[in-house]
Amino acid sequence: MKVLIETSARHVHLSREALDVLFGRGYGLKVKRFLSQPGQFVSEDRVEIVGARGSIKNVSVLGPPRGSTQVELSLTDARKIGIDAVIRESGDLSGSPGCKIVGPIGIYDLKEGVIAAKRHIHMAPQDARKIGTDSGEIVSVKINSSERSTIFEDTVVRVSNKFSLACHIDTDESNAAGIKGEIFGEIIV
Ligand SMILES: [Zn+2]
Repeated sequence: MKVLIETSARHVHLSREALDVLFGRGYGLKVKRFLSQPGQFVSEDRVEIVGARGSIKNVSVLGPPRGSTQVELSLTDARKIGIDAVIRESGDLSGSPGCKIVGPIGIYDLKEGVIAAKRHIHMAPQDARKIGTDSGEIVSVKINSSERSTIFEDTVVRVSNKFSLACHIDTDESNAAGIKGEIFGEIIV
């Protein structure tokens, strides 16, 4: 099955509590552009992520707010600012490293929640049935690019009727596969 490959740049998801501290009580994120997954958007709002050895400015805040604050960096980003990142699925934050998040009006001390997102495929139940896979299963994705064709193993399937079919990788993975512009991969079950 063909799947759209989307590269996720570094970003944060903020809890209501973190939003209040960083941007002000009751602040509403300003929608810049909607993403492929229904309701999810990139906001115009930015924060700075501070680790033990440096910081990264201008990190996008994605909306809407979530139950837990989560910072998604590439391993390259994390190393640069001195965070010993772990590869985790979104939401699996227990025991992950923390950081400081600097916003326009405040600083939020995040105890845990910095991850390098485990690559994954969002799909609807009918797509999963078609290729005989299910939520939580591990598949591979073959990407043919002009110079760095790559097979990504260890790609987790996430199924929900709220999802549209897309494979999410980070900027390290995208660079490793030499991806430029819109590209599709092949799911290998
Ligand atoms: Zn995703």
